[in-house]
Amino acid sequence: MYPDYLKDSLEKVNQTRSKRLELAKSDKPVYPPMNAAEREDVLSKFHPDSASAARSHIRIGPNKGEQLTTEITDLLEAHSMLDPKRMEESLANPDYETDMLIIGGGGAGCWAAITAIKNGIKPMIATKLRLGDANSMMSEGGMQAAVTPQDSPTRHYLDAIGGGHFDNKPELVRALTEDGPEVVRELENLGVMWDKMEDGSLQVLHGGGTSHKRMVSCRDYIGAVIMRTLMDEVENHPDEISVREFEPAIELLLDDKGQCAGAVLYNLDTEQFMVVRAKTTVITTGGFGRLHIRGFATTNHYGATGDGLVMAYRAGANLKFMDSVQYHPTGAIYPEQIAGFLITEKIRGAGGQPLNKDG
Ligand SMILES: Cc1cc2nc3c(=O)[nH]c(=O)nc-3n(C[C@H](O)[C@H](O)[C@H](O)COP(=O)(O)OP(=O)(O)OC[C@H]3O[C@@H](n4cnc5c(N)ncnc54)[C@H](O)[C@@H]3O)c2cc1C
Repeated sequence: MYPDYLKDSLEKVNQTRSKRLELAKSDKPVYPPMNAAEREDVLSKFHPDSASAARSHIRIGPNKGEQLTTEITDLLEAHSMLDPKRMEESLANPDYETDMLIIGGGGAGCWAAITAIKNGIKPMIATKLRLGDANSMMSEGGMQAAVTPQDSPTRHYLDAIGGGHFDNKPELVRALTEDGPEVVRELENLGVMWDKMEDGSLQVLHGGGTSHKRMVSCRDYIGAVIMRTLMDEVENHPDEISVREFEPAIELLLDDKGQCAGAVLYNLDTEQFMVVRAKTTVITTGGFGRLHIRGFATTNHYGATGDGLVMAYRAGANLKFMDSVQYHPTGAIYPEQIAGFLITEKIRGAGGQPLNKDG
């Protein structure tokens, strides 16, 4: 059933298996560590960021002069689909008005909508595909939060700041780590069934680079469980949250003070443009992993094409941390229909040994 090149490779992997398992049991390194030159050689041949054409200087806008991933530079420099003059006029005659427009219907978008209604605001979610058609649905491994008595948000904060090479924005890391345990509780109240120990406490695992076990999980489909729960909650409030599917935002609208006042949506079925005037606009359109950087296969969802970044950039936003892209290092290569599907990092945490094609 496998093509010949895979059969050969699998055979070599089998040949080294018993030796590798023996070494792993004895706590000895399974293969010799690479020296700097060897590592550089592999990275320059195979890592999507390492080729010289991987990055280019952006020539316009608030980040002008910075080096970004070429695929996203091209999008940020591209022209709008819309005529700017007509955009100015359109705010005077909106098709819809809302207190809060949420652009993107993944985890962040649904959570923003649920938070809004708790605070008496009736939001509108406009999303490119169906609600929940998002990277959020696809996450497998787990979610980090300091939920055990041995752990604390401060320890989580230190791990995250160190893991981010001290580049992170401290106030964002603080919000993430301090809110974590409460978010786990709130998700459980909404219906998420976390993996638990026999005594009913949360099961926690190690994530890469963490000093304590703090990864909560739902088997290996945490994203699907969280998204199903959030979508149910959104759909349970039809009078408060309106959802527009297959209606991506294609441009933000600015008022006469230059502040964001809504967006233009594009209906993928009818090919009509729709103007939404909003008191507040929240962008939750996710990342740009689906741009297939350097032609690589990707674990990312079809929607992850950087739309929110492009719209915000055109509206004058300075984009942060555009020099770093997270890649999943392990994914399926066969059968071809699922090339790029994630093989979760949890597999490595559980003792999986990465090997090259020669075993
Ligand atoms: C395969 C995979 C596994 C992962 N595993 C983990 C894990 O184990 N643990 C972890 O913490 N993280 C994991 N992640 C990362 C995590 O899933 C994301 O960081 C997170 O889900 C992002 O949520 P989001 O709501 O910001 O974006 P998304 O979930 O990507 O949602 C964005 C939404 O916006 C929509 N959209 C895009 N453009 C527009 C537009 N112009 N107008 C309207 N809507 C638009 C998209 O279609 C999508 O529905 C994983 C990611 C992937 C791809």
